[in-house]
Amino acid sequence: QLLDNQAIGMVASAQANFMRVVVDSNEEERSGVELLCVVKAVLKKIKRRVLVGDKVLVCSIDWIDKRGMIENIFQRRNEISDPPVANVDHLLLLFSLEQPKIEAFSLTRFLIEAESTGIPLTLALNKSELVDEETQVAWDIKLRGWGYKPIFCSVDTKVGLDSLEFILREQTSVIVGPSGVGKSSLINALRGSRHVSEEDNWLAHIEGSKWYDDQRVGEVSIRSGRGKHTTRHVSLLPLSGGGYLADTPGFNQPSLMKVTKKSLAQLFPEVRNMLGASEPVKCSFSDCLHLGEPGCVVKGDWERYSYYLQLLDEIKIREEFQ
Ligand code: GDP
Ligand code: ZN
Repeated sequence: QLLDNQAIGMVASAQANFMRVVVDSNEEERSGVELLCVVKAVLKKIKRRVLVGDKVLVCSIDWIDKRGMIENIFQRRNEISDPPVANVDHLLLLFSLEQPKIEAFSLTRFLIEAESTGIPLTLALNKSELVDEETQVAWDIKLRGWGYKPIFCSVDTKVGLDSLEFILREQTSVIVGPSGVGKSSLINALRGSRHVSEEDNWLAHIEGSKWYDDQRVGEVSIRSGRGKHTTRHVSLLPLSGGGYLADTPGFNQPSLMKVTKKSLAQLFPEVRNMLGASEPVKCSFSDCLHLGEPGCVVKGDWERYSYYLQLLDEIKIREEFQ
């Protein structure tokens, strides 16, 4: 049971020691209210870092000045580190068909990195106006063979943006992919059509106020913190269909750090299909790497098998050096 000066909300953005929390409440006049919050010292002491996307308990709320203090973090469903966001429902992996040209192995690396988070994934192929119909059909067929149904889009001509908006509704999403494919352009296109509070300036409002000075922690003033901070600033933009989109794209370089030799094969949907989702078929050895071991049910005749072998080698080398 919450007291009158308490609320539950979601952290929508973070800058240095300040968090903007959107209140989630049954009471109409409180639901959606944005509170400027600091984090209670005890949370910092036990090294629980509050992330954008976290569901939090806010206490000591001043409903008039719209300020409060984050006192606890609810259990996270998941978190990603690039950009740092908790409770991500959906990853939108963006590639471009041209400029830069889509390339199957590079795409596979990104798909594997995205799959390794366990977060549902949509694949979109941008700059569709730069290629002909046949090229799109060929990629569509190829990717369906891998187990994906790509969305063809163009930020320039707006083709496919409606489908993307529909997919992004009512969830918290992060756009990931290599540089130059149009991630920032897409984020801007999706935010463009709707009202977004002046959040880029939300910290500027309070700079210079006494409250702001009181909240400085040790050496790290907000001003210096902003300049030197190594973690990138990220905000969740509210979307018109409900849900949020991170304003900072992620995974520029797939590190595959979370992928192990044993987990790799399962990150290929076509292998998951071979192993059967409803009625699982098993290889004879539980640690089978599908390299032709006796009793292996994953045959080596799938299109991306050579990519699998290449990534397996890469992961073996990494694991040896760990
Ligand atoms: P990011 O690095 O993934 O964030 O990519 P940017 O959003 O910075 O875009 C890289 C370049 O691609 C920019 O010059 C954009 O104008 C351009 N671009 C983005 N979307 C499209 C598109 O649909 N078609 C074409 N032809 N260019 C695009
Ligand atoms: Zn096997």
